[in-house]
Amino acid sequence: MINVAINGYGVIGRRVADIVDMQPDMKLAGITKVHPDYKAHSAIQKGYRVYGIDDKSRNALTDAGIPTQGTMKDLVSQVDVVVDASPGDVGDQNLALYKEMGKKAVFQGGEEHELTGLSFVAQCNYDKAKNKQFVRVVSCNTTGLCRVLNSLDEAFGITKANVVIARRATDPDDSAKGPIDSVVLDPVSIPSHQGLDVNTVLPNFPVVSMAFKIPTTHMHLHSLIVSVKGAASADSVINKLENTTRVMLINGKKDGFKSTANIIDLAREMGRPRNDIYESVVWRDSVKVIGNEIYFFMAIHQESIVTPENIDAIRALYGKNEKSESIAVTNKTLGIRT
Ligand code: NAD
Repeated sequence: MINVAINGYGVIGRRVADIVDMQPDMKLAGITKVHPDYKAHSAIQKGYRVYGIDDKSRNALTDAGIPTQGTMKDLVSQVDVVVDASPGDVGDQNLALYKEMGKKAVFQGGEEHELTGLSFVAQCNYDKAKNKQFVRVVSCNTTGLCRVLNSLDEAFGITKANVVIARRATDPDDSAKGPIDSVVLDPVSIPSHQGLDVNTVLPNFPVVSMAFKIPTTHMHLHSLIVSVKGAASADSVINKLENTTRVMLINGKKDGFKSTANIIDLAREMGRPRNDIYESVVWRDSVKVIGNEIYFFMAIHQESIVTPENIDAIRALYGKNEKSESIAVTNKTLGIRT
């Protein structure tokens, strides 16, 4: 069993904790919390061992009636792998502790690629992370893009990819951020970081992205234009994506998927925990080939798409499983069609 700690129990950490707990080859040693809020109470109700990140937060948790087992250092000392799901750039500060204790760690997309020198998407570069000490799971948009671009590159040879991303403003549990009534260029200058980030995983073709924030919380929406060398048709693109793991194809016209809201509604109907959609979701009837360019729309559930990647990253660092084996086990526990 791989003993796992979750450091940072927010949007990403809570999801990864639940899924670690479901893996046949992993054991969740505990989670860290900073504040004694409802998320800390819910962790206790799930039977998770809770640790403060330091003495101050441990005391605050204890004073609020939340039983704690120690601090982050106590938790990290007893595990094989830490999933660092702290806010962006905080993982950078935690790295020294993991190094000092000789622990392996999985970081998130809010950290810079340079932190680990290895950015990860399971189906693209699982083997590169095998037996390494540190890896960074890329952000939600980058993960979604890497899955489809890697697959199309295999089939048709990509020469260039362009993507325009309408970003959700913030996550559903965050009432502090906007916009409420505007479209915010994110950033004004081009390119945005997502395309460059794809190149940390898939370096062989340029990806240019531009992004803006819109007043929704559920999902991001990508408009892609992908130039290829090989002969592609809408049918061959659809066929390739249909046979790509962690990509879901939906029908806009035939099945009534008119918006991202319908995808979240599907997740509710499927009984997925927290309405999670772990797959990159591509509208089948948006796929169009004009000359050597492939066009389509794709939706990304920002809160959950990196959950399976974190589980595979843990296995890759541990080094005992092959890529296909790890992806199959993770997919099965999450209910992802293989
Ligand atoms: P979050 O704010 O929801 O959760 C972070 C948690 O870490 C909070 O509970 C916070 O209290 C805790 N924390 C604060 N300081 C800490 C410290 N020093 N040590 C440990 N924990 C600490 O953030 P999130 O959305 O879960 O993001 C976590 C990481 O995942 C970031 O790198 C982010 O960029 C990345 N990510 C986020 C999303 C998303 O859409 N939310 C998607 C993909 C990747």
